[in-house]
Amino acid sequence: MTDTHTGGCACGTVRYQVRGKPVLAAVCHCTFCQRRLASAFAILATFEEQNVEILQGELAEVEHHSDVSGRWLRMQFCPKCGTTVSHRAQLRPGMRTIAGGTFDDPRWFTIDRHIWAQSKLPWVTIPEGVAVYQQAFVPAPA
Ligand SMILES: [Zn+2]
Ligand SMILES: [Zn+2]
Repeated sequence: MTDTHTGGCACGTVRYQVRGKPVLAAVCHCTFCQRRLASAFAILATFEEQNVEILQGELAEVEHHSDVSGRWLRMQFCPKCGTTVSHRAQLRPGMRTIAGGTFDDPRWFTIDRHIWAQSKLPWVTIPEGVAVYQQAFVPAPA
């Protein structure tokens, strides 16, 4: 149980565990995340695929193509309660992003960047000291 964190959907059918810290920990203010999560923004905790383990339950999946980039996003959700638990993105092969609000304790990691700030809701204030991108954050090729 070294450095693992658990979470799951709202009804308890789906449970997962992650190992280690997120490779990327971002808040996304894009209009698609606002709508797909029915919220002000998305909390995105991205891990290497092998560090995410579904402990219980089956996730249903829906594929969306970005109207900006054309790339796919495959969102995994609990078929019983509809909670989006994770997604995979064409942009990040080998990675899986956990919807940060589904952790049992969502406070365990810190956010290092805010993306799509151009569509941030006006009453959301981004704290100082984090990287802010008006649009997507795409890492430069190594
Ligand atoms: Zn559920
Ligand atoms: Zn987004």
